[in-house]
Amino acid sequence: MHQRQPHWSQTSQRLFTECSRAWAHQYAFLEQGKPFRGVPSRPRTFDDLTVRVARSIWIERLSDQYQRKVWSDIYRRRRISSTVDEMLWNTRMDVSDLRKATAIHQIAEQLRTLEQSSMLRIVFGEQGKRWVYFQRQEKVNLNGIDLFAAPDIAVFHQDKWTLIRIRFRTSKWLPTIDLEHRLMANWAVQHTGFPSSADEYRIRELAWSRGIWREQRIEFDEKTMNEALDLLLHDVQEMRWTQRMALADPSLGILPLAASERSCRTCFHRETCPAKTGLHEAKERQREYLITLNSKSRNKVSKH
Ligand code: SF4
Repeated sequence: MHQRQPHWSQTSQRLFTECSRAWAHQYAFLEQGKPFRGVPSRPRTFDDLTVRVARSIWIERLSDQYQRKVWSDIYRRRRISSTVDEMLWNTRMDVSDLRKATAIHQIAEQLRTLEQSSMLRIVFGEQGKRWVYFQRQEKVNLNGIDLFAAPDIAVFHQDKWTLIRIRFRTSKWLPTIDLEHRLMANWAVQHTGFPSSADEYRIRELAWSRGIWREQRIEFDEKTMNEALDLLLHDVQEMRWTQRMALADPSLGILPLAASERSCRTCFHRETCPAKTGLHEAKERQREYLITLNSKSRNKVSKH
C-alpha cells in the first residue's frame, strides 16, 4: 500500500492546535493511504466561502497576468459572481441576495486594491520583472517531511527574491505566525531554481484588515529559519504521536477534545463526537473514562 510521508501545512497545524480529535479524523488515517474518514474540507460558513472565492479568483487573475491577459473591472466582477454562485450551489448554502451582492462587491474591491498595493504594483505594472506564483498545494521535501509552505508570490526585485504571503482574512494573531512565515524561506531554499542562502530572500506579508491591505516585513536569518524548522519538527512529532493513538484506538476516544467550544460549532465531525451535546460535559466523561482505563491497566500490571 502506498505510504505517504508525514506532512506539515498551516491548515493541518491550525486544526491540530484547535482539536486533536478533529485533526485525527482528517489526517491520521491518510498517511496509511486511506481516504479521508470525514467529509473533505469545504467552506463551513459564508465568510469561509467568500475567502475561498477571493483566493480562487486571485489565482485565476495571476495565471492570466502571467500570460499578459488583461482583466477589466466588469470581467472581474462577473468571475467573482459566478464563482460565488457555483460554491453556494456546491455547498447547498443559502444566503440572501443582499448578502451575496455585498460579498461580491467586497471581494472585487479587495482584489482590485490588492493589485494596487505597493508590493504587487511591480507585478501588475512594470514589464520585465521576474515573478512567479504558487498554489498552497505545492510541496517540497524537508528532512523527510512534505512541507506545504509555498509563498503566494515570489518577486525578484533589487537582487533578492521577495517571498509574499497573502492573507485574505486576518484571523486572530497566533504566536507561531512569524515562524510560519519563515517556513516560506525554508520552503524556497528546497525548491528547485531558488537560491540556497537566507541572505537572498525577503519575507513580506500582505494581510486584509478592516478594509485595507496592511504590509508587514518579517525579519529572519539562518538562526530563525532553524527555529522555524525546529517548530515544524516538534509539530510533526506531536502529530505522529496523536496518529499512533488514533490507529491504536480508531474510536478516537482517548484523544484530546477541542480547546474551545467555538471549534465545535463549525466542526464537520460533531455528529459523531462526544462533544455533540456539549464540550465541557464530554471532557468530564472522557476524564472519568481515562481514570477507569488507567486503573484497569494498573490492576492488570499488579496481577502479573
Ligand atoms: S466537535 Fe469539537 S471536540 Fe469534537 S471533533 Fe469537532 S472540534 Fe473536536
